[in-house]
Amino acid sequence: MKRYSMFAVAREGLNYHLGWGRAWRNPAPKKKYDVIIVGAGGHGLATAYYLGKNYGIRNVAIIEKGWLGGGNTGRNTTIIRSNYLQDPSAAIYEKARSLYETLSQDLNYNVMFSPRGLLMLAQTHHEVRGYRRTVYANNLQGVTTEWIGPERVKQIVPIMNIHGPRYPVLGALYQARGGTARHDAVAWGYARACSDMGMDIIQQCEVTGIRQVNGKVTGVDTTKGSIDCDKLGLVVAGHTSVLADMGGFRLPIESLALQALVSEPIKPCMDVVVMANTVHGYMSQSDKGEMVIGGGTDGFNNYTQRGSWHHVEETVRALVETFPMISRLKMLRQWGGIVDMTGDRSPILSKTPLGNCFVNCGWGTGGFKSIPGSGWAMAELMARGEPGPLTEEFSMYRFREGKFIDESVAAGVAH
Ligand SMILES: Cc1cc2nc3c(=O)[nH]c(=O)nc-3n(C[C@H](O)[C@H](O)[C@H](O)COP(=O)(O)OP(=O)(O)OC[C@H]3O[C@@H](n4cnc5c(N)ncnc54)[C@H](O)[C@@H]3O)c2cc1C
Repeated sequence: MKRYSMFAVAREGLNYHLGWGRAWRNPAPKKKYDVIIVGAGGHGLATAYYLGKNYGIRNVAIIEKGWLGGGNTGRNTTIIRSNYLQDPSAAIYEKARSLYETLSQDLNYNVMFSPRGLLMLAQTHHEVRGYRRTVYANNLQGVTTEWIGPERVKQIVPIMNIHGPRYPVLGALYQARGGTARHDAVAWGYARACSDMGMDIIQQCEVTGIRQVNGKVTGVDTTKGSIDCDKLGLVVAGHTSVLADMGGFRLPIESLALQALVSEPIKPCMDVVVMANTVHGYMSQSDKGEMVIGGGTDGFNNYTQRGSWHHVEETVRALVETFPMISRLKMLRQWGGIVDMTGDRSPILSKTPLGNCFVNCGWGTGGFKSIPGSGWAMAELMARGEPGPLTEEFSMYRFREGKFIDESVAAGVAH
């Protein structure tokens, strides 16, 4: 693989950019792999990458029914933070956030990580208490966050109206190293690195069945034929229940559409990410100048991977008191993705009742930020066959045992 660098750009510039190779290969599937990962979203690709990088397991196929990064990974609003309440969550999200800091160098691919700072607004007294508690918890967990008052919020975001009248800003939970990254680039960077390690990314190939003998996985049936494997990882977000059904087990997952929209591009006016969870809305400004806006999930289960008009109205209505300027913006486009929600709003990284079959799902509305940490932890789980420190609390069996990791405040609305 040709390394990307300033010198490579200069060299190719002199050569009319004719010398760049393809970023990843497009191979036909082999008969058998050591590991098959279903789903070439960020989590599937990161799992494969760390299997190769950390454990030397490189005879790996990543099977994708559409195009890589075409699921939620390419549809999200790219918020990165680790200010969660519970210890297991803070550990895995902070691992991910810290990996993001050097991901561009690690992958030799610019993922445009921008730790521009992130504010979660408190607009009710209940939220003030909740976020203050989270700041105390974060400080104990080694996650750097702080509580700031309304005047400081106004200083950081001058375009904000902090006086209400309905939802005045009473303060905010501030994570200075939270921010955003370019979502497609994260998928593309991992894909390029996986392909470079000799792994096969097989796109336009749907998994239609899971084969097993004596309670152990032996391979998958796909639209490109049957492929054998020793270990199988299901990393398909909103389609997890469908794949689990093929494996003969059930998961406590609900699939819902989550939508977002962007405005026309405008001059730079806000250099942090702002989340307003009471009113169900959040906003940041992309490098192109568009205001990137999102809200809550649809109120009913569905697999509708597209936007709807009522959502634009609901989300903009929620934010317009705090950001009056958006009433004058034209909205450019909207879209949706299918997110996988668990009851405690925490993910599942787990062994399953089917031998050598592992599942990584339940990231719901907030799994972009966790991609590197999730891949790191899932690779450990799959390589060792047993959970490690980052995954032991995230077993699918916690729902049977009542050991919930309740993040309904940190993750129910917030992404
Ligand atoms: C509108 C929206 C906004 C969001 N905002 C944020 C945010 O700001 N911050 C944040 O942290 N998170 C956010 N999220 C959540 C985040 O996008 C997801 O949690 C994350 O991308 C999940 O990644 P994944 O790799 O698990 O899933 P995906 O990227 O969805 O990848 C799963 C892949 O599996 C494939 N697949 C499914 N079934 C099969 C099959 N049978 N055979 C083969 N392949 C199959 C799919 O085609 C898909 O490509 C948002 C999500 C949406 C929809």
